[in-house]
Amino acid sequence: MKKKINSRLIAIAVLAVVATALGITMIYYGLFQRQVQSDLQMCAEALRDTGIFQKENRQTILANYTNSQSQQNSIPDLRITWVDSDGTVLYDKDMNAAKMENHADRPEIRDAFENGTGAIVRESDTMNMSTFYYAIRLKDGTVLRVSTEARSMVSVFVTVAPAIALILAVIIVVCVFLAHLLTKQLLQPIEKMAQNLEDTSDGAEYKELVPFMNTIRMQHENILAAAKSRQDFTANVSHELKTPLTAISGYAELIENHMVDVSQEEHIAKEIRRNADRLVTLINDIIRLSELDHSQEQQGFELLDLYEVASECTEALVMNAQKRNISLTLTGTSCMVRANREMIRELMDNLCQNAIRYNNEGGYVHVTIAKENDKPMLIVQDNGIGIPKNQQERVFERFYRVDKSRSRETGGTGLGLAIVKHIVELHDAKLYLDSEVGEGTTIRVEF
Ligand code: ADP
Repeated sequence: MKKKINSRLIAIAVLAVVATALGITMIYYGLFQRQVQSDLQMCAEALRDTGIFQKENRQTILANYTNSQSQQNSIPDLRITWVDSDGTVLYDKDMNAAKMENHADRPEIRDAFENGTGAIVRESDTMNMSTFYYAIRLKDGTVLRVSTEARSMVSVFVTVAPAIALILAVIIVVCVFLAHLLTKQLLQPIEKMAQNLEDTSDGAEYKELVPFMNTIRMQHENILAAAKSRQDFTANVSHELKTPLTAISGYAELIENHMVDVSQEEHIAKEIRRNADRLVTLINDIIRLSELDHSQEQQGFELLDLYEVASECTEALVMNAQKRNISLTLTGTSCMVRANREMIRELMDNLCQNAIRYNNEGGYVHVTIAKENDKPMLIVQDNGIGIPKNQQERVFERFYRVDKSRSRETGGTGLGLAIVKHIVELHDAKLYLDSEVGEGTTIRVEF
């Protein structure tokens, strides 16, 4: 940033100085040109008014006023040329008139013949000098031309170039110093903000930076929250894995030390298997969550019938429900949605399993597929134990359980609804939970 400001400031200064120098030179050169022209005009008119330039005086003029003969009398730097009405040079102060070519085609002389006066500036070959001409028509039809040499604009500019270079050098030094000060001043509040990222009371000094600052703060908070949630998740996973592993290890130790009766063997083997199954389920759910975390949006999506998937799902769970004397029914009509079949199965499976798991003897689970306001809906309704209002938000958190022992006893991992929430988000769907303790729970997914 400092380098950029430095170079930009210097570039602006160089541009400004060069442009100003060029502009001023052009303006002054214009004025200078006009001055020279008007001086020449005055000279020409004065010479005309003397009345000397008449054909009968030509010999006298030639004899007395050429440079070679009368150096002292001549006006330095002013050249006088007298041209006859056919363009023949009658007299020239610096050159031999007889040897000079016809001047009728010179623009300033042509103009003077036509309009009475003519003026022109001609650059020398080297562009160093300019010759200014002014021609005036006399009464007898001849033309008197005066000219002088002056420096050209290029040469004036070249002369002022060292001064410009010096000014530029000074300005560049000042710019470097100013850029240093400016960047320091500009960056100070930004550096301060970067140091106090967490302090929201510290308002940004530049209002243009407020949205940027808010985004950074939000991202910062999100990163901290994500880190915290990862930490919590790791702690929870370790804890969840530890319980069945400790049980398995304990039973193995009993067997190792021959402390198990033959009559207890079956029970112990069952317990080991139950705990091992629990570990497998838990690990499967953790793997599934991590897959969903990394799953790219709308991957493996197809047009599928919600009713068809719900029917497969309820069929698979009907035995499970019967074991607990719970009726599981499916109603509704076929509803097409764009979705990932495996994920939808998983979602329905989790919701139905929960409805069975947290139900009472003789309870029911109704699964409905319907269209409400033209939107496909999946509704899983039970008349089970219900979820207290103050915990309804939290049940979607990973490992959050209302009734821990019931969840564990029935093979719950505390991850089911977290997986459901994830799948719903991946499908851009909406999730509604409606529950009353002792009356039951209804979960709706609106696609
Ligand atoms: P779990 O594997 O323990 O069932 P979930 O994430 O699926 O974990 O659910 C979180 C908690 O929400 C459960 O432990 C349970 O307390 C509660 N819950 C979920 N579904 C229902 C339901 N249909 N009725 C009552 N409570 C429920």
